[in-house]
Amino acid sequence: MAPAGSGLNFADASFVDELRRRVSAGATVFGRWEGDEAEAECVAHSHDHSFHPGQVPGCVCYAASTADVAACMRLCRGRRVPLVARGAGTGIEGGAIPPAEGCCVVSLVRLTKVEVNVEERLATVGAGVLKLALAKALKPHGLLFGPDPSSNPSLGGMASTGGSGMSTMMWGTTKENVRGLTVVTCEGDVIEATRRARVRKSSTGYDLTNLYMGSEGTLGIITELVVKLQPIPKHRVGAVVAFSDIRPAVETVVSLQRAGFETALRCELMNAEGVLVTNAIYETTLKEAPTLFLEFVGDDAEAPWAQCQAAVAMARARGAAPDPLLARDGAALDHLWEGRRGCYLAASRYRKATGQQQLPDAILVTDVCVPIPALAECVSETEADFRGAGIPCVICAHIADGNFHCLVPYQPSDRGGAVTLEHRLIDRALAHGGTVSGEHGVGLGKREHICREHGDVAIGVMRKIKQALDPDGILNAGKVLLPGGGPKASQLHPARL
Ligand SMILES: Cc1cc2nc3c(=O)[nH]c(=O)nc-3n(C[C@H](O)[C@H](O)[C@H](O)COP(=O)(O)OP(=O)(O)OC[C@H]3O[C@@H](n4cnc5c(N)ncnc54)[C@H](O)[C@@H]3O)c2cc1C
Repeated sequence: MAPAGSGLNFADASFVDELRRRVSAGATVFGRWEGDEAEAECVAHSHDHSFHPGQVPGCVCYAASTADVAACMRLCRGRRVPLVARGAGTGIEGGAIPPAEGCCVVSLVRLTKVEVNVEERLATVGAGVLKLALAKALKPHGLLFGPDPSSNPSLGGMASTGGSGMSTMMWGTTKENVRGLTVVTCEGDVIEATRRARVRKSSTGYDLTNLYMGSEGTLGIITELVVKLQPIPKHRVGAVVAFSDIRPAVETVVSLQRAGFETALRCELMNAEGVLVTNAIYETTLKEAPTLFLEFVGDDAEAPWAQCQAAVAMARARGAAPDPLLARDGAALDHLWEGRRGCYLAASRYRKATGQQQLPDAILVTDVCVPIPALAECVSETEADFRGAGIPCVICAHIADGNFHCLVPYQPSDRGGAVTLEHRLIDRALAHGGTVSGEHGVGLGKREHICREHGDVAIGVMRKIKQALDPDGILNAGKVLLPGGGPKASQLHPARL
C-alpha cells in the first residue's frame, strides 16, 4: 500500500497513458491491469533475490535512454507517484522491491551502450549493461572491469549498492572503479558527471559521484557510468587448501593479508557445509572441510606461482591438509570458481543434498564485514552460534576483505530462528568494529542496523540529504532509512548476544 498519510499516489491508467506519450518509441510501458502480459511483467518486477516479501507494482517502464528516465521521473514527481529503479534484480536486501502498491518500476535493462576507450583504459557503459556482457565486450581489447560479484548484476545496480565480490584484493570495489556517473535527479534534470571522467583527478566541488554510489536509488537514477579498465593478466595460478577447522583457515588469510602478496587476486573461503552442498550440486569432489580457494595472477609466470606456493606453505604451517590442489593453469580453476559462485543455488538445495528432504529451502542471505584482526574470532563465533542453535549455515566469504556471507537455508517454520541468528551475527560484527553489510547494501533488511553502525548524527545528515534531493519521498521510498524518523541508536542496544 502507499504509506498512509504519505500524500503519494498510485500509477493509474491516466498516468500510464501520459507516460507512454512522454517516453521514446524505444521504451515500453506496462500497466498492471492491461492483460496477462502486463500482469506477468509487473509480477516479475515484484521481488528481488532477497527473502523479503514482494510487492507488485502498478506499472513497469522499460526506459531506452536517459531522456526516457528523465521523462518518467518528471511525471512521477508531478503526480507524486513513488518509483523504484531496477537493474538485474539480483539484490539480496530487498532494494528493488517496489516500496508501495501501485508504484512505478523504471527498468534500466535496455540501457546497454558500451564504448571502450582503449588508450585511456576507460569504458562508458549504460546502467543496464550486465557484468558478463561487459566482460565479453572488453575481452577482444585485452581489458577487464575489476569488480566481480558472484552474480550477474547490472553496472547501475553495482554502483547503486557499492557492490564488489571476488577480486577486491587486487582491484577494489565498484566505488573505486567508477570515474563518473550520469544521474537523473528527482526533478528529471540530468547530472553529467561522465563529462569530466577522463580527468584523473579533480579538487572541485562536492563529490556527487560518490554521493550517488551506494545510494540504492533513493537519491536519483544512474543511467550511465564511466568505469576504469585493467589489462587482462596473462598468467593465472591457484590452490585449494582444506583445514580441519575454520579458525586456522581464517588466520591463514590474516597472515596472507599481512604478507601483502601483490599478485593475489582472489582469496575465498567456504565452510564445511558450503563444500558439502557445492560437491552435491556441482559434482566437485572436495574434502568436506573449511576450504580456502586462492588465485594469483600476473604477466610473468614466475611471481604468481612463487607467491601461490608461499601462501600454501603459510597454510600448511597453520595445519592445512598436506595435499592441496594446485593449478598452474588458471583454466583448471574455473570449474571450482563456478562452484564458489554457485553457493547460493547450492545452499537452496541444502536439505536435499544432506538427504533430509526433497523440497528446496528458502534462503536468508546476509553479509557483514569486520576489521581483519577481528576476522578469525568473528567467523568462528558465528559458525559456533549457528551450530549451537542447530540451524545450518553455509559460509561463503570474500574472506581477504574481512567480508563473509551467511546463507541460511530454512523451511517456513524455521524462519524466526534464522532471523534471530542473523541479528546476532550483526550484533557481533558491530561489537568487533565492523559494518552490517560489506557489499549487499541496506535495502529493507538492514535499515535498523545502520542506525547503530553510523550513529544518530550521521543518520541525521543522511536524512537531510534525502530530504533535500527527494523532498516528496518518491524515490525508492522507505529504503535505506527507516520511514518516520526511525529509532535513536541508543534505543537499539544489542541485547541478543
Ligand atoms: C547468487 C548471488 C550472488 C551474489 N554475489 C554478490 C557478490 O559477490 N558481491 C556483491 O556485491 N553482491 C552480490 N550479490 C548481490 C547483487 O548481485 C548485488 O547487490 C548487485 O550489485 C545488484 O545489482 P542489480 O543490477 O541486480 O540491482 P537490483 O537488484 O536491480 O537493484 C539493487 C538496488 O539498486 C537500485 N538500482 C539498481 N539500478 C539502479 C540505477 N541504475 N540507478 C539507481 N538505483 C539503481 C535499486 O533500486 C535497488 O535499490 C549476489 C546476489 C546473488 C543472487
